[in-house]
Order: sequence, then C-alpha cells, then structure tokens
Amino acid sequence: MKDSKSKDILYIVIPCYNEEPVLGETSSRLKVKMTALIDGGRISENSRVLFVDDGSRDKTWEIIESLHASDSLFAGVKLSRNRGHQNALLAGLMTAKDKADAVISMDADLQDDIEAIDAFLDKYAEGCDIVYGVRSSRKKDTAFKRGTANMFYGFMRLLGVDIINNHADYRLISKRALEALSEYKEVNIFLRGIVRQIGFKSDVVYYERSERFAGESKYPLKKMMSFAFDGVTSFSIKPIRMVTVVGFLIFLVSLGFIVYAIVQGLMGNSEAGWSSLFCSLWFLSGIQIMAIGIVGEYIGKIYIEVKARPRYIIDKYIDDIPNEQ
Ligand code: UDP
Ligand code: MG
Repeated sequence: MKDSKSKDILYIVIPCYNEEPVLGETSSRLKVKMTALIDGGRISENSRVLFVDDGSRDKTWEIIESLHASDSLFAGVKLSRNRGHQNALLAGLMTAKDKADAVISMDADLQDDIEAIDAFLDKYAEGCDIVYGVRSSRKKDTAFKRGTANMFYGFMRLLGVDIINNHADYRLISKRALEALSEYKEVNIFLRGIVRQIGFKSDVVYYERSERFAGESKYPLKKMMSFAFDGVTSFSIKPIRMVTVVGFLIFLVSLGFIVYAIVQGLMGNSEAGWSSLFCSLWFLSGIQIMAIGIVGEYIGKIYIEVKARPRYIIDKYIDDIPNEQ
C-alpha cells in the first residue's frame, strides 16, 4: 500500500463479447461509481475501467473507442479474435497489471453488484492480495443454471479441486498477485482454480447477484459444459485414477468369470455361459472405451500445452496513461 498522497490505482477489467446492448448502461453506472471512489479519496484519479473486446462481431469495439474518446476513465483492449471469456479476462488482467496497484474483474452485464467494490477495497486496505466476490444467493438465476452450477461446484470439490463455492470471476487481485499469476503459463486457463493456487492473504466479500439487464447470456449450455469439463481436467487427475481403480476391480471380477466358465465347460454345459459372456463383453468394452476417452482427454491437454500457443493476441490498446517502465 502507498501513503495517502499517492493513492492506489484501481483498474476494473471487463471482458466483452457482443455486449453492444449493455455497454452504455454499464459504462455510465461505472462512471458514477468510479467518480465517487476518486472524489472520496479512496483510489487514484489514474484509475480506469478497461474493457476487453473479445473479438465481438457487433459494435462493441466502436462503443469502447467512443467511450475512451469522450472520457479518459475508459480504456480498451481489442483482441485479434474471439478467445473466450477466460482468455479475454487474462488479457485484461495482464494488461492492467503494469498500470494498476489492484485490479477488479467483473462481467459486462453488471450481474455482480458494483457496490461491493467498497468492501473489496476495505479488504485490500487490510492487506489482502486477493478478495473473492461470492454470491450470497442465486435467487435471480434460473433454476437450471442454479442446479447445474451446484452440481459443478459439488463435483469439483469431490475431485479435490480447491474452488470457492458460488464465486465466479468477480474478484480483486493486487499487483503482486497478478505478477504471480503471470508465472502460470498454462494454456487451458481456468482462473477460478489458478487464483486459488497463488496463495497470499485473501478474504471473501458477499453480494447479491442480479439479472443480466440487457442482451443475452454468452454462456449457452454447450459453452458452460465445456467450461466445466476444462475446469475438471485442468485441475484434477482423479478421473484417470478412478478409471484405473474401476478397471482393476473389473479385472478381478473377470477372473471369477473365467473360473466359472471353465467349470461350466468341464461339466459339459458351456452354452449356458453365453449370456454372461455376452454381457461382460459389452460391459468391458464400454469401460475400456470410456477409459481410453478420458486418457485421450488428458493427452489432448498435453498436446495443447506442449504447443504453448499464445493465449491471446492484442490487436489494439487504448489508454491515456503512459507505461511506467
Ligand atoms: N464473454 C467473453 N467472451 C466469450 C463469452 C463471454 O468475453 O466468448 C464475456 C461476456 O461479455 C460477459 C462475461 O464474459 O462479460 C460473462 O458472460 P455472460 O454474462 O454471458 O455469462 P453468464 O452470466 O450468463 O454466465
Ligand atoms: Mg452474465
């Protein structure tokens, strides 16, 4: 923390994918909030709202550019193409880390209550490097989203992944924690899991999650499922181990079957065993294919990691503050 003369610079990082309908409202609400924080002496006037355009196909980038032109509070990063929420967020965090003392990430639709920012800053002032925003209730989410989310968090914990219940990507991260985050080079990036691995003093702030006020969710079921699957396979190798154990148990059972089949054969009624053989053939084939699939999943991950492709490519960056370095 710096002394009161040079206040901390706060960057708010917001990934945006086709967010044309919400940007106007989001920016004006954040303008009010940031102005109050700056006037109240809580943050430096060099603080910014940094929008990351994740290869939107609508007017998102044009809106960001015009926001920036009319008010230096707003800055923007444009990615070369759509890379998905996590990569866009990472691009924003890594850009902001060179300018800011602390960064708060949130979604463009302001489903996360921006009034919680004060509490985030309080915890930061107390010396926390990471502050997690946690939804105190999911009443506003659809029953489907709530159900699938609960399943996801339960499953992750079952697999031994350290993850905070009902915490999405609304969090404050200090500069030094961001420096630490930049050391994680993995391409399959699941920020909720990785941020937990960083360590440092952290705390939790509770807030009410509201509905998306305009536009549609950019997380259809297909994206949500692939996100959950990535979360599991990037952080846990328990599925592989489970398959190994199941495979071994089935092997033991099949030994019993072999003894049974030999005995039946010696007694001259071998065709009686046809149905059990038939069943076990199918059963084992199923298990084997499943095992190969899961192993393949991890091999796919290794393949992607080994290539170490860039996780995002920045096309443009607009911000008035010159680089400190
Ligand atoms: N988003 C993104 N790239 C994508 C999909 C989503 O940057 O490919 C952003 C989106 O603009 C929003 C955030 O990720 O700011 C969360 O998306 P959304 O609100 O649609 O998800 P939900 O709240 O429905 O889970
Ligand atoms: Mg949303």
